[in-house]
Amino acid sequence: MIKINENFLKLKQNYLFIEIAKRLKAFSAENPDKPLIRMGIGDVTLPLPAAAVEAMKKAADEMGVKETFRGYEDTGRGYDFLKEKIKAYYNENGAEISLDEILVNDGAKSDSGNISDIFSESNTVLITDPAYPVYVDSTIMAGKQIIFAAATSENGFKALPDYNIDCEMIYLCSPNNPTGSVYTAEELKMWVDYANEKHAIIIFDAAYEAFIRDKSLPRSIMAIPGARTCAVELCSLSKTAGFTGTRLGYTIIPNELMAYSENGEKVSVLKTWIRRQGSKFNGVSYPVQRAAEAVFSTDGRAQIQANIDYYMKNAEIISNTCETLNIPYTGGKNSPYIWLKAPNGMSGWDFFDYLLNEIQVVGTPGEGFGENGGGWFRLTSFNTHENTAEAMKRVEKLLS
Ligand code: PLP
Repeated sequence: MIKINENFLKLKQNYLFIEIAKRLKAFSAENPDKPLIRMGIGDVTLPLPAAAVEAMKKAADEMGVKETFRGYEDTGRGYDFLKEKIKAYYNENGAEISLDEILVNDGAKSDSGNISDIFSESNTVLITDPAYPVYVDSTIMAGKQIIFAAATSENGFKALPDYNIDCEMIYLCSPNNPTGSVYTAEELKMWVDYANEKHAIIIFDAAYEAFIRDKSLPRSIMAIPGARTCAVELCSLSKTAGFTGTRLGYTIIPNELMAYSENGEKVSVLKTWIRRQGSKFNGVSYPVQRAAEAVFSTDGRAQIQANIDYYMKNAEIISNTCETLNIPYTGGKNSPYIWLKAPNGMSGWDFFDYLLNEIQVVGTPGEGFGENGGGWFRLTSFNTHENTAEAMKRVEKLLS
């Protein structure tokens, strides 16, 4: 009899988006004349930069000609033309990495869960609470124990290491989804020192690095001294360049990064991951890699910056409203997310219903990201200026 992997039975249903969809459907059925302003979306809304579209079309043409057609990519880890661009970008951000340490993939989500495959089931995984739900789910699927590190208003939604706690894997996300908080270089150094002392590995999710405007804040953990012996970095063009439907990301694994076998021998994390990917992943399509290369061109950089500036203007509109209303919040300055406290002691869900019923503005209740998300609420900047301004006008009127 075929047996199911019991770890999958331990997963909680992801009620958050199902429940949101259910409430929105019910409201719209009863109020067809009241359109919703959706400020809960985590997906980008502006189209791909023109440079990427042009490059993708050109590459598609090459694929239709015998002389320039390409089949499997040799390594499945990304063409050098793209990895050279990524390497130069990291260099600009203060991190030295080599081409063989860059592994191109189909977005950060796959590797954020899959990386767990190469680490023992006996490892304990530290995850901040609240967090991007994929870290929790994929750790449960992998059968590993979870310890939560509280991210609360007291620590600015930035959990810091506690040397009394032992763990082997640590998920950090900065700029953070959902809280928009961003670790400083000093704070990341504290995590790096802790991980090196504990012989633990940090999985650092930098999916929102492009939204960092304050030049003193690190865009990559690889820019922090000591990170090369304790960190893997996940990054993606999804939010940076509107690639959510195009799919391209990259993982950085330093050559020095080691894990240990049962008998205490050092094992290269990069080599083990390459071995795993060699059996389970065949690379990203050539036209998409050419599109990604174009994102890093002068034109591409200017075009994505214009889109990011557009979103960040929305973030500013939302932050200004929080300030006018004296609502505690994080994010919005170096992140597309604004994480705000539901007023009058409401739960995130109560506030969700209140905004929906009274002013038809939709956000995401913080409860969906972990226990510490209770009473908090996430708004995103991925809407139009007009809708964002209209939504905030309504919020100000409602809560003043
Ligand atoms: N990491 C974080 C923190 C995210 O919020 C998301 C997507 O919302 C991802 C990773 C996944 O992105 P990708 O589209 O690159 O798979």
